[in-house]
Amino acid sequence: MLVRCGAVGDKTAMVEAFIRSCARWALDFALPPRCAGCGTIVAQVHSFCPDCWKQVEFLGNTGCSTCGIPLAATDTDICGACLARPPRIARTRAAVAYGELSRSLAIRLKYGRKVAIARTMARYMAPLVAADGQALLVPVPLHRSRLWRRGFNQSALVARELSRQLRIRAEPMLLRRIRRTPPLKGMSPQQRRKTVAGAFRVRDRSAVAGKTIILIDDVLTTGSTAEACARTLKRAGAARVELVSWARVVKPSQLMR
Ligand SMILES: [Zn+2]
Ligand SMILES: [Zn+2]
Repeated sequence: MLVRCGAVGDKTAMVEAFIRSCARWALDFALPPRCAGCGTIVAQVHSFCPDCWKQVEFLGNTGCSTCGIPLAATDTDICGACLARPPRIARTRAAVAYGELSRSLAIRLKYGRKVAIARTMARYMAPLVAADGQALLVPVPLHRSRLWRRGFNQSALVARELSRQLRIRAEPMLLRRIRRTPPLKGMSPQQRRKTVAGAFRVRDRSAVAGKTIILIDDVLTTGSTAEACARTLKRAGAARVELVSWARVVKPSQLMR
């Protein structure tokens, strides 16, 4: 009887989810698409108006072939830092530079659970995912206490949209954040490494072994958190770890390498 009740409950939830997604579809058709930055009506869904477009600095596939940071005049296709000490993340890419507009999108996604924003981000991140169908998309996880408070992980929303667009599997539960970490801002690289060391754990090693894992993040600042994720994934047997984020800090003054 209990089992049957559970099944009925699941069914109701499924029907509700179905109705919700139908309503969303209907809304998408009924309402004209709006700029993800300022909300004015635009011609294409999940895009920016010309004014906002000018404000966004798209990074794409430029920069160091490994870490993606803008190259100095003396570098070839790989930066000095990556040459000296190859990072655990074999390839890092971000759709846009961290700025007023990209920050506002990230904040609205983080606190508003706006699926439309996740879709916009995914649209610009998708071309940067250079993966075969065997790779796994893994969002940088939140600690469960934060997850409970917020109700969702913004990077998991983006990973889900990327998964839909690229037909690559997303595994939002594969990596866990087992320890809460304080904000890393203002710490030295060594302090940051120490703070995030051991903060992550792989739930199922057999799901990771031999795989290419593409970490998905909303904003990439120091890279210490992603490095800690990569270390954990590599220890669990991942063959290769990459990272694709929506925005990244590229201004030398904001860079804390
Ligand atoms: Zn706009
Ligand atoms: Zn580099």
